[in-house]
Amino acid sequence: MIVNVGVLAVGIVIGLWAGFAYRRHMRSITLFRPALLLVIVAATVLAVFFGTSYMASRPGPNCILISIDALRADHLGCYGYARATSPNIDRLAAEGTMFLRAFTPCPGSTGGHASMLTGLYTLSHGAYVNGVRLPPEARTAAEVFRDNGYSTAAFTKNWFISPAVGFGQGFDCFIDNAYGIILRKAGPRLFARGLAISQAIRRALERPGFPSSLEIEDALTWIRFRHRHKFFLFLHIMDAHSPYVPPPVFAGRFGDTEPDVARILSLHDKTWEARLSRPEAEFLVDRYDEEILSADHKIGLLLEELEHLGIHNNTLVVVMADHGEVLDESGHKQFGHGTLAHGGLRIPLIMWWPGKIPAGDRRQGTVQSVDVLPTVIDILNLQDRMPRQGLALFGSADSIAADRPAFATGDLSARDEYTVITPQWQYSILGEEAHLYDLPTGSAGIYNLIEQYPSVADSLQAVLQGWVDRSIAEAVVPYSLEGRSVTPGKEALERLKALGYIQ
Ligand SMILES: [Zn+2]
Repeated sequence: MIVNVGVLAVGIVIGLWAGFAYRRHMRSITLFRPALLLVIVAATVLAVFFGTSYMASRPGPNCILISIDALRADHLGCYGYARATSPNIDRLAAEGTMFLRAFTPCPGSTGGHASMLTGLYTLSHGAYVNGVRLPPEARTAAEVFRDNGYSTAAFTKNWFISPAVGFGQGFDCFIDNAYGIILRKAGPRLFARGLAISQAIRRALERPGFPSSLEIEDALTWIRFRHRHKFFLFLHIMDAHSPYVPPPVFAGRFGDTEPDVARILSLHDKTWEARLSRPEAEFLVDRYDEEILSADHKIGLLLEELEHLGIHNNTLVVVMADHGEVLDESGHKQFGHGTLAHGGLRIPLIMWWPGKIPAGDRRQGTVQSVDVLPTVIDILNLQDRMPRQGLALFGSADSIAADRPAFATGDLSARDEYTVITPQWQYSILGEEAHLYDLPTGSAGIYNLIEQYPSVADSLQAVLQGWVDRSIAEAVVPYSLEGRSVTPGKEALERLKALGYIQ
């Protein structure tokens, strides 16, 4: 506190001194007028910048929610993958708790993130498919943290979770590396204006197609600035997302084929309409793994910074994905996400807080993205005035059963697409059709067993329909896709194309 007041006082004294000096000499030292003006501006900026930051200083604990877009759990070392794709995530898993059976309720970026940030299933939060706006009635994690006195910030570069699609609510500072900045409070506004200029320069220098490091650079800058105040940081990393072009420093780490960018992009284009040969598919998987390595590297930088600032023991870190990724699996789109394929629904989920979260714990129970916000609220003892549909995963819900069903919605824009997953089965409604897959046999997407197991199908149909009805009944806005979509602008369309969302 003494330091805080001292910093503010020094800023004010410099400002007053510069002001008096300017008044005294403004007639006689015309030559130095611009320099004196500069000193006044700089001193005022320093006083406001540091003053607001330090005066608001309060102890943590902090929370960092990291979403790695399209990250498969089974391509991480800690989930049993043979390749060393994830040394830093593996460390978090070793020192924290890992959920082995985690699923997203929506295999799209808008819906998957909306569930993660609201603790509500897709039909309840209202952001049903990519580009459908998250309504203000769906109060988000950022709003919960803000209402509990936290500084809140988001760093992303995916238009589908941008403020234009309703994801700005609750954030003091929302930095979208691709499209612009939303800001509300005095301190972060000043900070964000500075970043806007630096971003414009850095974006101009970026190589198109490669995942950049803008989001982690800006997140680390923000943490350095705000770490004396308790904070909630949402960090969204796009590296593992298609078209699988790893940054040069990681390209070629896996596999023995030259990772030529033109070849990657031409094969990615091919995934839209044709099946790839086995070597072509393996080539793309090698690049996907290198992109995971790149995302993992960013998490390493973040951990380093937390330790450097001495706040690592006072910060809850959650690492997860908005959805998985289908990688050359039979019966579905060969690569990508958005369908109800098992590979696009299973996600990693790791929680880390040294001394607070059990270390080395491996939970077998089935969990979903909707459990994340209730768990964070429970761990940090936050006040929340909105009912959530997920469960708090520690404490009373410690023994979540492995056979707890997981639910998801698919692309609802053209037809009904719902699924329920148990350890044994996946039952899906796809418009007029129904599919039943036996998961342990590895035949998901290939053999529809609906005729062979009618009683299994009937009971799962009842469970699934019950969930759909409940989700619609508990929705924050009446279920409708009419007039809810947000149309991306020209620049957003270009960026979405570069990310492989559209052709
Ligand atoms: Zn996504």
